Amino acid sequence: MGGSIQFAKLFGIPVRLHWTFFLLFAGLALLGWSQTGSFTYLMWSSLFLLAVFTCVVLHEFGHALTARIYGVKTVDIILSPIGGIARLDKLPENPWQEFKVAIAGPLVNIAIALLISPFLFLVDTENSRNFFELLWEGNLPALPVLLSSFFLASLFVLNISLAVFNLIPAFPMDGGRIFRALLSIPLNRVRATRIASITGQFFAVLMVVYGIWSYSIVLAIIGVFIFLSASQEYRMIETESWLSDQVVGTIMRKDFTLLSYSDLLSKPLHIYLRGNERNFMVSSDADDRVVALLPETALMDALRTGETSGTVENFLIPIKPDPIPEDTNLREAYDSMREANREALLIRNETGQITGILEMYQIHFFLQLQQRLKKQAKG
Ligand SMILES: [Zn+2]
Repeated sequence: MGGSIQFAKLFGIPVRLHWTFFLLFAGLALLGWSQTGSFTYLMWSSLFLLAVFTCVVLHEFGHALTARIYGVKTVDIILSPIGGIARLDKLPENPWQEFKVAIAGPLVNIAIALLISPFLFLVDTENSRNFFELLWEGNLPALPVLLSSFFLASLFVLNISLAVFNLIPAFPMDGGRIFRALLSIPLNRVRATRIASITGQFFAVLMVVYGIWSYSIVLAIIGVFIFLSASQEYRMIETESWLSDQVVGTIMRKDFTLLSYSDLLSKPLHIYLRGNERNFMVSSDADDRVVALLPETALMDALRTGETSGTVENFLIPIKPDPIPEDTNLREAYDSMREANREALLIRNETGQITGILEMYQIHFFLQLQQRLKKQAKG
């Protein structure tokens, strides 16, 4: 996520603050100052904000450290005014693992509330009773008074609210993941995600309507964000399942042109401009071993600058010739291509003979085709 700065590293995971967070902080301070003009209030509200964000960070570490048990790494934890997010490297696909990773966050908030509760209900009994009566009547005092007299009680309620709010079954909130995980036990993952994402959008619409009705702009923004994330999550899972159902051998290009170093660039350009192949494998002149890739970007560069004379040798990228077997899962191939930023892979058969080439755009075409077939089947 752009525009965030790292301010800590805990358990080897960078914790970052999004810049908009400082706007929130400045806004709150300004508001408090203009309402009361008191330093005491400023101190209490800063202290409370710090406590809130500690609780949010702990919540995110609940996810991150549980994910670590299942070998899933966390890229970073980002805090923004609308909440925290632990960016996991990938999501566990085993339903029970996903369930545990998702529920760990809200459980952390419940644990914090439980830790505070002996003080509230055994030590500070009288004050707490007052607080909960006021809360019940919807009659809480203004923030300066609230925080200076009921700091821990407010923190208690905040943690319970965080747990409850996050359990709303809507992506990308924890409740959405828990719901999907539970549905994927009897159903397949795509269907489970479909149901969870429609349910999530229903709750998101409620949030936006309620947010506008109650002038809670932040809630309305979160609602819009959830609505979009729900369909995005579904599309992602659908794509993954289309890819998982195929092996590379079924969509690879079998009739590809193998170039050699000394070929003129006009040869691949001619083929490229006819709209057939986009990335070319190149073998050294000495033998037939493929040692380089002439990527589409190089051809486009040549066309743009007009430097189309010369041989292939001047434009190629040396590659490690590591052809993958024809029966490799398409999703696995796609992931490895994206990771290594490769536009094309070589495919071999059981005997090690090169039989085809798999290009990124072929995968994209395959996915678009699935999308169109799905639309036609519907309409
Ligand atoms: Zn969470």
